[in-house]
Amino acid sequence: MVEELNPFKIAQEQLDKAAKIMKLEKEIHALLRVPKQILEVSIPVKMDNGKTEVYRGFRVHYNDARGPTKGGIRFHPEETLDTVKALAAWMTWKTSVVDIPYGGAKGGVICDPKKMSNNELERLARGYVRAIGRSFIGSEVDIPAPDVYTTPQIMAWMMDEYSVIVGHNEPGMITGKPLSVGGSLGRGDATAKGGMYCLREAAKSMGMDLKKVRVAIQGFGNAGQYAHKLVTEMFGSKVVAVSDSKGGIYSEDGLNYSKVMEHKNKTGSVVNYPGAKSISNEELLELGVDVLIPAALENQIRKDNAGKIKAKIVVELANGPTTPEADEILNKNNILDIPDFLANAGGVTVSYFEWVQNINGYYWSEEEVYEKLDKKMTKAFHDVMEAKKRYNTDPRMAAYIVAVGRVADAVKIRGVI
Ligand code: GLU
Repeated sequence: MVEELNPFKIAQEQLDKAAKIMKLEKEIHALLRVPKQILEVSIPVKMDNGKTEVYRGFRVHYNDARGPTKGGIRFHPEETLDTVKALAAWMTWKTSVVDIPYGGAKGGVICDPKKMSNNELERLARGYVRAIGRSFIGSEVDIPAPDVYTTPQIMAWMMDEYSVIVGHNEPGMITGKPLSVGGSLGRGDATAKGGMYCLREAAKSMGMDLKKVRVAIQGFGNAGQYAHKLVTEMFGSKVVAVSDSKGGIYSEDGLNYSKVMEHKNKTGSVVNYPGAKSISNEELLELGVDVLIPAALENQIRKDNAGKIKAKIVVELANGPTTPEADEILNKNNILDIPDFLANAGGVTVSYFEWVQNINGYYWSEEEVYEKLDKKMTKAFHDVMEAKKRYNTDPRMAAYIVAVGRVADAVKIRGVI
């Protein structure tokens, strides 16, 4: 990996910049620059062909001053410990910016889930929980959730394995579960929905009519798919381009969500969707649209392409899609970039609601979940915009100032430093 694209270096660089602006105490800055603890494990998995593969897995607790650590587990062939460390740092700022009582964590396994059978995935999921063990995760300790290429089914297997280990059912040890085993209504589309509430507030502040806007979405996983659905349903915007890891499609007349989904389910990709023009993931970012939604992986908007972005608002549903140099270019060009750990905090917010419901054994209606999510996201968005004004800085730094400020308060008041 090129050093300047190392996500953990980027996360530290962002924190350093924010620390300077907000005049963060040196000791607290030093504490928040590095994870609290890291566990690296090997996971032997019996494959369908009878052979055993040994996978590498990680779990990083970044900071727990505000509560148990929280964050997803990613299954990805290019996973690295530094990526997991960065994602754990961003989870810490994410739970803080929406003010939920958690710290930050992240997990990952180096594997290619697209090449594994369901049975192999189940054995890997259970193996991960056994390897990480009963004391590193748990509903009062550290609570995993889905991330790239992990699903509600994988959460159910992990919850089952953990419950067997501890000898009782413990649904609150993991979130993003299927409804039948303690999942929450509204968790499926929560990441995209939270981003939509931010987009609604941003458009309001800019006097932009979302009914008239054209949208491009990079990435068609959980976040990207629901962003396509919701931006059309909630605002009547036109989605002209979407993409996945195999490539993108563009249609001037707009892409119908259900039809694109049907095509993706049938063929495994959005590419070759009838009637649309094929474009690359790079081209998608540079389209003449009003709203750009990166919903794939890190480092998509860099210094080499940031200057070509024409959108007026960027909603970062992915984690870490923009490098620090690209940030400067977007800001110079007056593009409102709603930063990742604010824009995509809807997922962890409804994860928190799921955990609260699990602990109380009392379940809420979908309307209740969405109403509470809207309140959390709207408040977080305006907290960040206020800090942006007060410190005369960009939205990412403003989000850092709000989030790091709250973590620093918790660290101080507990007497850690
Ligand atoms: N993986 C999601 C994220 O990056 C959700 C985390 C969670 O629900 O704990 O925010």
